[in-house]
Amino acid sequence: MLTLGTRVPLATWPTPVEPAPRLARALGLQPDDLLVKRDDLTGLGGGGNKVRKLEWTVGAALDRGAHTLVTAGAPQSNHARLTAAAAARTGLAAVLVFPGYPDDAPAAGNLVLDALLGARIVWAGDVDHDGLIATAATVAAAPGHALVPFGGSSPTGALGYREAGFELRDQISDLDTVVVALGSGGTMAGLVSALGPASVLGVDSGAVDDPHDVVAGLLDELPAPAGGGELRIRRDQVGDGYATQTDAVARAMLLAARTEGLVLDPVYTGRALAGLVAALADGTIRPGRRTVLLHSGGLPGLFGHPRALVRAAASGPGCPAPTL
Ligand SMILES: *Cc1c(COP(=O)(O)O)cnc(C)c1O
Repeated sequence: MLTLGTRVPLATWPTPVEPAPRLARALGLQPDDLLVKRDDLTGLGGGGNKVRKLEWTVGAALDRGAHTLVTAGAPQSNHARLTAAAAARTGLAAVLVFPGYPDDAPAAGNLVLDALLGARIVWAGDVDHDGLIATAATVAAAPGHALVPFGGSSPTGALGYREAGFELRDQISDLDTVVVALGSGGTMAGLVSALGPASVLGVDSGAVDDPHDVVAGLLDELPAPAGGGELRIRRDQVGDGYATQTDAVARAMLLAARTEGLVLDPVYTGRALAGLVAALADGTIRPGRRTVLLHSGGLPGLFGHPRALVRAAASGPGCPAPTL
């Protein structure tokens, strides 16, 4: 079982829970059936779900006497950006390892913030996922360097979302289902550890090959959840793969923006809402129960995928809400 290390406070908790009555109505729900947990408002470095995991993974790095955090991800990784911010906040250096070459990636979105936050970027060249992780491990082997796992999703990182699950339970006593985007798995695993598998719906973003395996593997190392049952994971919003765009996600982003002024991103939170819409259509989420959409952040990523932004807005100002 996991031993608890030090938790470094990086943000102000709890994050707010907000009603979304106009979005609820547009989805065919009662106005108070739907709430949004604003984990995009975690403050540090532009905010997002990775802050909760970093409180624990940075704590572990400091416990080991590290002076430099190393992590890997895509050039538009929210996790990499927030690792750079957490390093700045705690007086550490950050090295971010990305695939490809500097000229391939547009200087936009998270990549601009990484530079602003003072991170050093290592371009790993033509590598697959395993090659990327291997490059990061080599960089992190230097003295005083600590590797923060891909997406922050180690059992230690997932503890942040176990706490978030308890926070949510305190805020919403009649919670039925929390809907969350699933990337590297730590967010869903932590929530399931706190709330049980029946209360969490993960919407896969296509970031890992076998999300079920990844979440189950993390759960093996975490305190066992109350209540049994199968993990609830939808894989129907992946489309052509991670960071590709689907019409369902564009419609979901447009609907959230125009009913609630709520900005979602095309890779994660847009997929989470599109998955919620699909779950309503097939009856796995039902009206009259309290459903929570976890807004996990990702706004800088939206500006790193400008075509997605244009696509979501393509129907022009003042258009009627799309039929879903
Ligand atoms: C990383 C990320 C997720 C997915 O979280 P995991 O713990 O990696 O599954 C969801 N939303 C946003 C905005 C993210 O950056």
